[in-house]
Amino acid sequence: MSFDIDNIRNDFPILAEKIYGKPLVYLDNAATTQKPRCVLDKITTTYATQNANIHRGIHYLSQKATLAHEAARQTIATFIGARSTNEIVFTRGTTESINLLASVFADRFCRPDDEIVITQMEHHSNIVPWQMAAERHRLHLRVAPIDERGELRLDELEKLLNHRTRLVAVAHISNVLGTVNPVKRIIEMAHAHGAKVLIDGAQAVAHLPVDVADLDADFYAFSGHKIYGPTGIGVLYGKEALLDTLPPYQGGGEMIQNVTFEKTTYNELPYKFEAGTPDFVGSVALAEALNYMDNIGREAIFAHEDHLLRYAEQRLREIPKMRIFGNAADKNSVISFLVGNVHPYDLGMLLDKTGVAVRTGHHCAQPLIDLLGIPGTVRASVAFYNTCNEIDYFVEQLRRCLDILQ
Ligand code: PLP
Repeated sequence: MSFDIDNIRNDFPILAEKIYGKPLVYLDNAATTQKPRCVLDKITTTYATQNANIHRGIHYLSQKATLAHEAARQTIATFIGARSTNEIVFTRGTTESINLLASVFADRFCRPDDEIVITQMEHHSNIVPWQMAAERHRLHLRVAPIDERGELRLDELEKLLNHRTRLVAVAHISNVLGTVNPVKRIIEMAHAHGAKVLIDGAQAVAHLPVDVADLDADFYAFSGHKIYGPTGIGVLYGKEALLDTLPPYQGGGEMIQNVTFEKTTYNELPYKFEAGTPDFVGSVALAEALNYMDNIGREAIFAHEDHLLRYAEQRLREIPKMRIFGNAADKNSVISFLVGNVHPYDLGMLLDKTGVAVRTGHHCAQPLIDLLGIPGTVRASVAFYNTCNEIDYFVEQLRRCLDILQ
């Protein structure tokens, strides 16, 4: 399949929806992405033709559903460059992946006064679970600063690393600034100090090539719904040797090998971390989304998105009093901005009436927004089904909203 934008847009039924009678211009892709028809169909046909609980059944449907779920795990492993399906733990999304890790990693590896390093640009999902772990285990959270362009200060990050650092948890792409962090370099730095690294890939897997083995990432988290898959499914990747040493997270069915009232032994990887009935429909639908992307070609997708981002930035900069937050040399898919003293909510609400969906507020990164000393931003974020015509319409409507508000 080649990159034919009209065909691609036809694959996404929601893009034909009218909002207040106007065509939808969906620029809130960092919050969640729209779903191609093949993903929607996969959900329906899975329920319609092979719905049965997996792993425990000996009947035909259960085995069919189990095979599909495990094949999906393989598709996901291949997509992110994991060496084995044992390294792919299904979760509800990035947030649950990080909570899982924060809980079991701290239990296994952390002693009082050990340190966890995060950065100033983290999403609440990559701050709060570590604060909670720090409280439980009396750890210290260290925060690496960013510079005025929104790039991580690697020199300062390095200064924070020492023999007490157990883990560095960092976003691959900032959901506010669009900064692409040099995660390979960060992983090398952390490993040199004996620390492990979690990459929060919520904004990255859909927008740049990810190869966890090449990165040498210890852990990598992402959400299905941000990569054209369904809500309610996500992944925690972990190196097999590390996952093996970690204790289980939740207890229940599936994660056990043998249970007596006296003692339970735990299942092998990755099931040890998957208590209860997994989202076996979500997993196959997520795999469908990844196959859909690969059929189009990730290189073509990312090149189109890069073009859209540059074009949108250039058009936005033509607007007087425009302030764009995040000017990193390596920037991806997200533009946060304010214009003059106009409140972001006012802009977002007026834009909505024109059919343009953008996000406004703190984007679940309150410490970063506080650091910037602003009430929030308007955030436009692109996906490969967006077009330069949509960007033109967005900028035109934005100018009209500003005429009303300024
Ligand atoms: N991390 C980042 C960088 C994000 O942008 C998001 C969602 O916006 C999350 C984590 C949380 O993802 P989810 O709500 O799918 O768990």
